[in-house]
Amino acid sequence: MTTTLRLRGGRVIDPANGRDELRDLYLRDGRMVDLAPNEAATEEIDIRGCIVMAGGIDMHTHIGGGKVNLARMLLPEDHRANANPIALPDNVLELASCGTCTPGTLATGYRYVEMGYTAAFEPAMMACNARHAHMEMGDTPILDHGAYVMLGNDELFLRMLAEGWDFERIRDYAGWTINASKAMGVKVVNPGGISAFKFNQRKLDVDENHVHWQVTPRQVVHALARALRELGVPHPLHIHGSNLGVAGNIQSTLDTIAALDGLPGHLTHIQFHAYGTEGPKKFSSAALQLAEVVNANKNVSIDVGQIMFGQTVTASGDTMRQHAQSGLADPRKWIGADIECEAGCGVVPFRYREQSYVNALQWVIGLEIFLLVDDPWRVVLTTDHPNGGPFTSYPHLIRLLMDRSFREEQLAKLHPEVAAQAALRSITRELSLYEIAIMTRAGPARLLGLRDRGHLGAGAAADIAVYRENADREAMFATPEYVFKDGVLVSRAGRVTAAPVGGTHFVAPDYDRGIEKRLRRHLAAQGSVNFDHIAIGHDELCQCCNGGRLLPAECFKEASS
Ligand SMILES: [Zn+2]
Ligand SMILES: [Zn+2]
Repeated sequence: MTTTLRLRGGRVIDPANGRDELRDLYLRDGRMVDLAPNEAATEEIDIRGCIVMAGGIDMHTHIGGGKVNLARMLLPEDHRANANPIALPDNVLELASCGTCTPGTLATGYRYVEMGYTAAFEPAMMACNARHAHMEMGDTPILDHGAYVMLGNDELFLRMLAEGWDFERIRDYAGWTINASKAMGVKVVNPGGISAFKFNQRKLDVDENHVHWQVTPRQVVHALARALRELGVPHPLHIHGSNLGVAGNIQSTLDTIAALDGLPGHLTHIQFHAYGTEGPKKFSSAALQLAEVVNANKNVSIDVGQIMFGQTVTASGDTMRQHAQSGLADPRKWIGADIECEAGCGVVPFRYREQSYVNALQWVIGLEIFLLVDDPWRVVLTTDHPNGGPFTSYPHLIRLLMDRSFREEQLAKLHPEVAAQAALRSITRELSLYEIAIMTRAGPARLLGLRDRGHLGAGAAADIAVYRENADREAMFATPEYVFKDGVLVSRAGRVTAAPVGGTHFVAPDYDRGIEKRLRRHLAAQGSVNFDHIAIGHDELCQCCNGGRLLPAECFKEASS
């Protein structure tokens, strides 16, 4: 007999279905169900006094692929910090794995799930390295996962744009790349800039020409955003803009939004792209300017990339900017690398300090963005793990957003000039549980086109987090009472209780296969993997992912015409 589990008496916060009410929830065969009048549950858990939300979804977190492994190798001390050589878990269900800013795959899965997250997306997968990225995420227990493939700095794309190929061929190339790498979307990093770096350019503004290809970031962004729109890919172009971390880069960010020309675009880790040049240090918050533009442009969504104080490591495809920041490495070591001229990779350890003017201001800017953008459906809660800080700091971040007096206490500890002058001091907004539920599950699910995730309506996957109501929101979000994944209880009071294999989200847009002839020639001449081997089939994806389920998301039909 199939069991039907009733979660009784919790306060269900389910923004996708417009709900914030006390009600019972029913789980059967891994899904949320409504019971017919004559049906009864076979099991019951009393969750009165608890807040219930869908499982959290992290739409931008570096958990798989080459640079993540390089970061792990670069920082063995992160894995030794608690015990030397490695602490053995006291839970027999866990295998040994550790690390905070560069956790192992296993620790990544355990720590996310203990916090009530049930899905995570790697934002920077290289097409030629997609197998490895999927295998690594497949090794990450419990969580569902997916990845965005990088385009816009690869030789073929830039050549097509430079030589004025028909737009349809560029679109088909993007469609083929998404299919071949089993991606959930496309990310562009420093559009054209990673390639320009290899031609000795050390900066590239939105309307500046790439010295070799004579194309601009504006053209790259527009072509990719349009391609995804015409392919019907639900997640808009995921954009890591030009001039990351540079004082005054707000202009590049506004130019990038303008380059979209009304097409959908998701600007990621936007905190690193919202800097002005005012004040004595010529470094200031441009959060207000950014928020006004985001509020006015409904085609734009963002995730924040909040920084958190302490040790972390920055791992990015943006070789140009990571090279520029490498002198700030702490500890003093870094890696820059390239694979097949498809993109790039830079890994720089970093310690954010409360008494650093710049770091304190970065912290302020992130919070200002969260609090100044009106529509929570277009703002996703991230630290760009591990770039702004490890994902395990999310409960602390949630408290900062929900509790003004706590925020002011923390602000007072920072560099005195920042503490005294930040506009953040005058922002009274405190986010509600409903808004947090949007920013951490309902919003990302919608932005990714996941129709049966991020909500608790009948038919949705039974991915659920049950938090004990607590005025200290950090404590509340750090340790949910119950976490269910596909209806299975996977964590109880912060302790993993089962470790099933997660599934893989991807999209499979249609494209004109005429492009494949050209790709075959290109890969034969310049790729290390030939055309017949590069594409990952469904069976292989399943194998790569440890036997996990394949979770194709539907594309929009004929979004273009
Ligand atoms: Zn990025
Ligand atoms: Zn990132």
